[in-house]
Amino acid sequence: LPGRIHQVADSYVAEFPDRMALIEDGASWTYRELDRRVTEIATVLALLGIRASDRMIIVSENCIALAGLLLAASRLDAWAIVANPRLSARELDQIRDHSGARRMFFACGVSKEAAAHASRYGAEIRQLGPLAEIGVSALNESATAEPVEADPAKQVAVLIYTSGTTGTPKGVMLTHENLLISAKTTAHFRRMDADDKVYIVLPISHIVGISLLIMTLMVGATARLVSKYDPAALAKAIAEERVTILNGVPATYQRLLEYKTVAGLKQFDRGSLRLIAVAGAPLDLDLKSRVEREFGLSLSNGYGITECSPGISGVRFDAPRNDQAVGTLLPGIEARIKTVDGKPAPNGQVGELHVRGRNVMRGYYRAPELTAKVIDADGWFNTGDLARFEGDCLYIVGRTKEMIIRSGFNVYPAEVEAVLNSHEDVVQSAVVGRSINGNEEVVAFVQLMQGSPVQAADLMAFINPQLTSYKRPSEIIVLDTLPATSTGKILKHKLAESLQGA
Ligand code: ATP
Repeated sequence: LPGRIHQVADSYVAEFPDRMALIEDGASWTYRELDRRVTEIATVLALLGIRASDRMIIVSENCIALAGLLLAASRLDAWAIVANPRLSARELDQIRDHSGARRMFFACGVSKEAAAHASRYGAEIRQLGPLAEIGVSALNESATAEPVEADPAKQVAVLIYTSGTTGTPKGVMLTHENLLISAKTTAHFRRMDADDKVYIVLPISHIVGISLLIMTLMVGATARLVSKYDPAALAKAIAEERVTILNGVPATYQRLLEYKTVAGLKQFDRGSLRLIAVAGAPLDLDLKSRVEREFGLSLSNGYGITECSPGISGVRFDAPRNDQAVGTLLPGIEARIKTVDGKPAPNGQVGELHVRGRNVMRGYYRAPELTAKVIDADGWFNTGDLARFEGDCLYIVGRTKEMIIRSGFNVYPAEVEAVLNSHEDVVQSAVVGRSINGNEEVVAFVQLMQGSPVQAADLMAFINPQLTSYKRPSEIIVLDTLPATSTGKILKHKLAESLQGA
């Protein structure tokens, strides 16, 4: 393993300097250019006062400038925080305040939203080495640098603020070693090599995007960086650009299929695609089979979490599955299923999933009590997910925090959602608990296909025969859209809050 993330491409720079490393709309860098330009950017960052262990925020969509800034931060041993420009001003302020960052950079050339944030922060627009139109804002001259680790691999490379689907954003500290080990394991698991071209549309502000970038450069392949998800552009790129690997969240594929219907396409041209992978949220079986029919490839489900950099398990190529299984543990990861009070769960039973490995984060930044709650003295990390094993195959059943306890019975929202989603007019659904007099009720929120005449009562009649009585929602609420994060994850806590006092 190289010591730090900017060193991943070193061997290709020497051996295959003309291979394409990064491509965005209208621009590209070979491995030689990547190396030279990252050095130049690092020099400018140093002149701007970035020192080892300073936090620096990069507000950017996926683009070459972002990759350049991220790797240049690594050269200086600074901690990079990549923020999605679609965050609100309030959310970005929260990250600024919590991280104590010294500088904030905005890739204004590629996104209106980044430019708007830049002007709000009074950023100066500059040329940073080879990068044009970068907003630079000095935040905090007296920012304290964290101690620098003697072993560079133990140094924090990125601080990732989780999307907060459960409420409070947390700053996850991932070291160079965490990121490199995770990328290496996943690249190997996927048999990636220099002939791959990876379509990176999941935001690099999210762990899956960062990890994809690192694994692509690690094998000498090409990263196709996409700043905004557009299903038409994706379909075109797949057909025409020799893309071999596509990673998405379920919503990526859902929207691609919707586009096909709207555009009246008969068939997708799968071009050179060899691997389609999905992670990040429960995979709907109907969606899975539709995607597989379209592409003539199996949709490989994988499970991960920011705190694990992110990969924990994946469905193997040579053993595709027809269910919601998230596959087998990635090499180097140990797992245990425990009851909520910490005892080992009997074989095959549902319990909390605890994992251990070199991919587990250093901790939550400035929140040692929170870290101690999830990582024990022996290094076991509690994922907060409910899971079970069938043989060596892992199934995610839901999140501990989202489990609804109704009259003493456990209701797993994912199970009820799966039944709702199997209705042909349902686009997506989210099931949450509503507390009433110390008990919990099951409430479902549903988004229907545009123009669908279906009503809540019809949905109730559809799902009730398929669910035991305690799992049946007391109420189904139809909404135009469900609140979601930038990666398409439904913000269930917002829905639950909307029920309070209702
Ligand atoms: P927060 O932790 O603040 O709620 P988040 O939910 O976006 O933010 P992530 O690390 O992005 O945090 O998401 C990890 C979670 O996503 C896992 O804990 C799990 O609940 C869910 N998840 C990831 N992959 C899958 C999958 N393949 N199937 C089901 N659930 C998944």
